[in-house]
Amino acid sequence: MENITVLIVDDSSVMRKIVERSLRQAGLEIGRVLEASNGLEALAVLNQQKVNLVLCDINMPAMDGLEFVKQLPSVENAKGVPVVMITTEGSESHVVQALSAGARGYIRKPFTADQVKEHILPVLAGNL
Ligand SMILES: [Mg+2]
Repeated sequence: MENITVLIVDDSSVMRKIVERSLRQAGLEIGRVLEASNGLEALAVLNQQKVNLVLCDINMPAMDGLEFVKQLPSVENAKGVPVVMITTEGSESHVVQALSAGARGYIRKPFTADQVKEHILPVLAGNL
């Protein structure tokens, strides 16, 4: 697998860094890492750049992760790009909605690098 471009969407810059570090610690072939702090920013990034994977928080201001997943098909550039949600305890109903709106999976906080790898490898391989 060649180096992939990942978009990390979270309203916490600290969490974005933790997610990035976990991806690198997991030994995934990560090339560029792009960041957005809410769904609106993420849609704007996807309009401009080719991305291979989106990791997306659920609770965010301006546009939350659920609305982002619903809006994603309207971005021509982002057709077929897998989205994996990053969730917290208590957001089960949102996870279910995100999955039915097209998200490929979810990772629960707090997570280890191994868990990140376990969830993301099959998604990148097109198996989820
Ligand atoms: Mg958040």
